[in-house]
Amino acid sequence: MLTCKQFLEELTDYLDESLSGESRAAIEKHISECPNCWVVADTTRKTIKIYKGMDPYPIPQDLHDRLLAALERKKAGMRQT
Ligand SMILES: [Zn+2]
Repeated sequence: MLTCKQFLEELTDYLDESLSGESRAAIEKHISECPNCWVVADTTRKTIKIYKGMDPYPIPQDLHDRLLAALERKKAGMRQT
């Protein structure tokens, strides 16, 4: 069985899915038997997921309003000319 130190060393490779089947099995066995490392693995996995699936930063409301106002002014100006 892996020690927690070995587990942590292998964790990023495990989450990258770049480990061989045998090493993956050892990691999964350790997670199933060690609640601390399960939490670490779960948290790290979620963090990576959020990081990879991150949406483009949404436009702040005030910037959105200002852009809209600028657009309206532009349209109004075009109507005059
Ligand atoms: Zn552990």
